[in-house]
Amino acid sequence: MSELKQSLLDFTQKELEALIKPSFRAKQIYGWLYHQYAETYDDMKNIPKALKEELAKKYLVNPMKIVKKELSSDGTIKYLFELQDGKTVEAVWLKMKDTQLDDNGEVIQEAKYTICVSTQVGCKVGCSFCLTAKGGFTRDLTAGEIVAQVVNLKRDNDHKHNRKINIVYMGMGEPLDNLSNLAKAIEIFKEEEGLCISGKRQTVSTSGLSNKIDKLGEMDLGVHIAISLHAVDDELRTELIPMNKAHNIASIIEAVKRFPIDTRKRVMFEYLVIKNKNDDIGSAKKLVKLLTDIKAKVNLIYFNPYPGTSYERPSKSDMIAFQDYLVHHGLLCTIRDSKGIDISAACGQLKEKTEGER
Ligand code: SAH
Ligand code: SF4
Repeated sequence: MSELKQSLLDFTQKELEALIKPSFRAKQIYGWLYHQYAETYDDMKNIPKALKEELAKKYLVNPMKIVKKELSSDGTIKYLFELQDGKTVEAVWLKMKDTQLDDNGEVIQEAKYTICVSTQVGCKVGCSFCLTAKGGFTRDLTAGEIVAQVVNLKRDNDHKHNRKINIVYMGMGEPLDNLSNLAKAIEIFKEEEGLCISGKRQTVSTSGLSNKIDKLGEMDLGVHIAISLHAVDDELRTELIPMNKAHNIASIIEAVKRFPIDTRKRVMFEYLVIKNKNDDIGSAKKLVKLLTDIKAKVNLIYFNPYPGTSYERPSKSDMIAFQDYLVHHGLLCTIRDSKGIDISAACGQLKEKTEGER
């Protein structure tokens, strides 16, 4: 693979200031990147041409372009990006809350959004229910490619730099398998003069690499974690997530207990519900037991079928019975509303569809 060109989004503000002289020019460029969402050097109007030409030799401004966009009736927008080496990844713009108006039509609360980003092209973990896994693993995303997903989505939705936004690392790939680039992206997002997205607004979802959960905890970035648990016994979990052999349920629970979390917050456990696999009350019972000592919150997800899978979507009544059991036994539990169900909702499904059409 030919060398990928770095992008200006790969650097922290401090690094840019070391790279670009004089430093006030670095500050201006930083503003163009994170406040104006510049796409090209041409956009940077007050920057001398010679400096832009010099930088352009080494660095791209935007390392990716939108090649497909699917809009859902609920406000969800799914994006497919093409990277400089032609590979593609997805990111999703999720509308979490509508704008609220008072009786006079004045805005009291602006709409709230979350961006779901990818961290790898493909994934090594190889979960049996996941479409991303089917294509195998291609490569890690660079920090700049992670950052660029957010910048591009904010630009495309005209979302001002200082408006609050949440980030979930729940797109394609296993974030903790790309820990150094992930950590760099988290750091860049947090920068006060940039997008200023605090750790509290960022949630890393992992299939459960317990040693890396510890590493992320040691970095003390202030982010939340979500654990893709999906099963309550190791046999089924290994069928669903093969690397459970190396990182079993007990090791994950122990790592979660060590993870530094804000005492007011809960660790999210994601539980993908698959018909006749893990949707029974016996499983719910075990789940309650497993999470007794943890300040946890469970998010139940309907398995979203795709052509070729043998797994099935659970019935609504089984899903509700499962949730009721957890709630009656003291666990906070929500059912993920299938945002964008009409637009190839689950991870990897837009990419798969598009490549099939090409
Ligand atoms: N690799 C990380 C990051 C997110 S994976 C992890 O596994 O936690 C993407 C998300 O899509 C996960 O929450 C996973 O449970 C969900 N997912 C994958 N395939 C799915 C499917 N067929 N139906 C519903 N959700 C799916
Ligand atoms: Fe990778 Fe997550 Fe898909 Fe599993 S569910 S294959 S960890 S992206």
